[in-house]
Amino acid sequence: MEKKRLVLKLQAEAQMPTDFGLFIMKAYSSKPLDPMPHFALLSENLDADKVVNVRIHSECITGDVFSSNRCECGDQLHFSMNYVGQNSGIIIYLRQEGRGIGIINKLHAYIHQDKGLDTAQANLALGLEIDAREYDDAVTILQSLGVSKINLITNNPDKIRALDEAGIEVMSRIPVIIEPKEANAEYLESKKTLFGHLL
Ligand SMILES: [Zn+2]
Repeated sequence: MEKKRLVLKLQAEAQMPTDFGLFIMKAYSSKPLDPMPHFALLSENLDADKVVNVRIHSECITGDVFSSNRCECGDQLHFSMNYVGQNSGIIIYLRQEGRGIGIINKLHAYIHQDKGLDTAQANLALGLEIDAREYDDAVTILQSLGVSKINLITNNPDKIRALDEAGIEVMSRIPVIIEPKEANAEYLESKKTLFGHLL
């Protein structure tokens, strides 16, 4: 079934100096004052006509903001910001928390995981999809920035496929290299075996 999609628009942008370099932060949403817009963080020296280094990062408030060791999202985000800060590129930050199930469901899922279920089983136990993430909005943002050829910073082959099918040419994959921590070793293993990630 076709989903009705509201048109994403650039609502605001400003310079954002960070520990990883200076970025231009752009906010995209369909409503002008949407409290949860997607973001694109562009490095200073970006040339959209060349092959652009791109990270498409789905929000993980526990990992990105609170440095949770249950997953490696925060480390992945910082690896990507560092890479883009040094080599130029774009970070697209999509507001689809917890693989699209939302933060409250994600906390419910953690309770199941603490009882021994893996990420996928926990979502199924809650009657939720294993992975409800979509990348259409990322494609819309890339197209609006005039980007058509990218090097994708990811360990997730599904993302490469989704972008290729949407007409964004993925020239190469830049692997995200993270030291595993003890608390997320099981999570990383389930990503590898259940979701086919290249770790
Ligand atoms: Zn995470």
